[in-house]
Amino acid sequence: MGEINLFVQAIIQLAIFISITYIVVNLKPLFKGMITNVSNKDKLFFNLIIIIIMVLGTYLFKGYNLGLHYLIILLVGRLFGFPYGLINGVVMAIFSYYLKTNLYPLGLESLLLGIVIDNYNIIKLNNINFKLKRLIISLLLAVTLVLQDKLILSLFFNIIIFWSVLSVIDIQQRRLKWIYNKERELNDINLTCSSLTGLHDINKKLSSKFTLKDTYETLIEIGCEKLGVKVGGLLAQSEEEDAYLDIKSLKGLDKGLHREYWKKVKVKKGDKYFGYNLNEGEIVIINSLKKDNHSDTALFVEGGFNSMLLSPIFVDDNFAGIIFFLHQEESFFNNFHMVAIKTVVEQSPLAIEKAEFFEKMERNMAGLSTLQRTSNTINSTLNLDEVIDLTVDVILGTMGVSMAGLFLLDQQDNKLKLVSSIGVPDNKETKKLIELAERTADNLIQNNSVLITDKVSEDIKNKFETLNLISAVCIPLKVRDNMLGAITAAQLDFPRNFKEADKSFLTTLANQIAIAIENATMYKQMEDLATRDGLTKLYNHSYFQDALREEIFKAKESKTELSLMMMDIDNFKEFNDTYGHQVGDKVLKSLARLLKEEARDLDIVARYGGEEFAIILPKTDSATVLAIGERLNDLVRNMVVEYDNLRLKVTISIGAAYYKAGLSQKELINAADTALYQAKRRGKDQTCLTEYKEIAFLR
Ligand code: GH3
Ligand code: MG
Ligand code: MG
Repeated sequence: MGEINLFVQAIIQLAIFISITYIVVNLKPLFKGMITNVSNKDKLFFNLIIIIIMVLGTYLFKGYNLGLHYLIILLVGRLFGFPYGLINGVVMAIFSYYLKTNLYPLGLESLLLGIVIDNYNIIKLNNINFKLKRLIISLLLAVTLVLQDKLILSLFFNIIIFWSVLSVIDIQQRRLKWIYNKERELNDINLTCSSLTGLHDINKKLSSKFTLKDTYETLIEIGCEKLGVKVGGLLAQSEEEDAYLDIKSLKGLDKGLHREYWKKVKVKKGDKYFGYNLNEGEIVIINSLKKDNHSDTALFVEGGFNSMLLSPIFVDDNFAGIIFFLHQEESFFNNFHMVAIKTVVEQSPLAIEKAEFFEKMERNMAGLSTLQRTSNTINSTLNLDEVIDLTVDVILGTMGVSMAGLFLLDQQDNKLKLVSSIGVPDNKETKKLIELAERTADNLIQNNSVLITDKVSEDIKNKFETLNLISAVCIPLKVRDNMLGAITAAQLDFPRNFKEADKSFLTTLANQIAIAIENATMYKQMEDLATRDGLTKLYNHSYFQDALREEIFKAKESKTELSLMMMDIDNFKEFNDTYGHQVGDKVLKSLARLLKEEARDLDIVARYGGEEFAIILPKTDSATVLAIGERLNDLVRNMVVEYDNLRLKVTISIGAAYYKAGLSQKELINAADTALYQAKRRGKDQTCLTEYKEIAFLR
């Protein structure tokens, strides 16, 4: 009877085991989500409750406890893994021993079951396939059970029981593995799909951006979108200093504090960034900025951010920048975020290179069109004075600097002279600044080189107390091998950023200016040859005639006054005879200089004949011209021409005439001549003014 009873019991147990096992192994995927997120503390708590239930169950259903506590061990072991099955096994062993419901030695089977279930999947028996493994483990478990009743039949049944349980686990395990693999494949496909559509998105967004600024902004925007964050930034090559990166774009950090901070932030290339080495190309996740406690990120912590994701950007295998993202939550970023940002970063070099290329093209185009415009402007006139003024305007306009100056080599003494400047502050250090510019220009001309610097040396900077000189440009002007002078430009207070392209632009601009200046200079020389007298450099007789015609016309048109002076050196024949022609020439030159100095800009001073001069005085009436004449008499009388040890003096006689409506050019000249004749007759060294009634007979 006992045998049959045992047999029935074994059959029931078998049924219970198989169903329980089936249910339990299927529970795992069901609870998968829940279980992975349960903390150890919760697992222990849950386990405690289970143990209480188990103990109560053991107590209440003494006869049938096996199924129940095996169920519990299986359940916990499968759900939580090692060592929870074992813990329950131990508890069960103790209780069954204590309650004497199960008198196996120390409840060994519970312990074994706990261990086996906990670790079943990771138990590896060398060179044995899973069927054999199952059999061996079943045998082991069965033997421990059979130790109690010592029945061979029981051994057989127990083997079957355990073997069945383990078979179900194995089958389910394989199924789960298959499902898991499929799930992973699907996940991979999903990721690929999303990164493909992401790629398409990124490309679409980036391809519409042409400038670097837009590209940086878009990269951050896409990054934020992919990561589901609101805050990010990008650091790239500083324009001011080659060895540094600086902030190019920020998103979401609109607190003034951050902006100010970032404006100042400079990260040295090759150093660690925020405490991490990104040069190898790895993406870095900082789970807790607070714990990381790095000085560069202190401000983020202050701003309430806790996690950070950083990725280097490489262009042409060169480290080109960093893109980073921030989030308030600790440990916000994970591997999925890494994958997501990788796609964005992989696309960025292309976009950045494209934008760089575009900007370079744009700069070249802008440079070319500026060059063409400036060249047109400077070449629009052959008047040297106009060219000189236009030159400084053009320098200021195209370089965008605060001041510009033009130095030209004086033909006489071959020294540099500042012929035009613009924007030079009126300051007690102005003179020093101009002298520095002149010295620099002189050096550069000697060495045939150029100076284009974003930041002048400290030495030079320290020379000035009040002027904050930062950037400077000085380029010699040269046509073929003929040095003409130099253009100079400077920026006070903040640095300019001269790129390579700017340098070639400025040199080309200088060449254009040089050509324009040479053309105008040559034109002026030609013009001078035709209109000026070689000895005195005053206008010659023919120019005088043309100019007088013009001035008479203007006086008639605008009904303004016009006067004319003719002058002749007194007793010059005698002077020449006494001192020689060369001394006479020196007197002529000195006199010419004096007349030129005394004349107003609008007066036209000419050498009328050998030792005769004429001055056309527009907008001058008869009283004034008489006064001017007398003043000239005084000045000439006091003029000393030194020759050897001699201090020589001459006097002049002046005939003045004013223009009266109806007079012809010839009549005006005759009138002045007549007055001159009168001055001679009256004793020389004086001025006579024509009274027209006296010359009526001349008509
Ligand atoms: P007067 O006071 O009447 O004018 O006496 P004058 O001797 O100056 O007489 P006149 O004006 O006729 O003198 C002309 C002299 O000027 C002749 C010549 O010796 C001198 N002369 C004319 N052209 C030049 C020149 O280019 N160089 C020099 N050194 N002398 C000149
Ligand atoms: Mg004469
Ligand atoms: Mg004379």
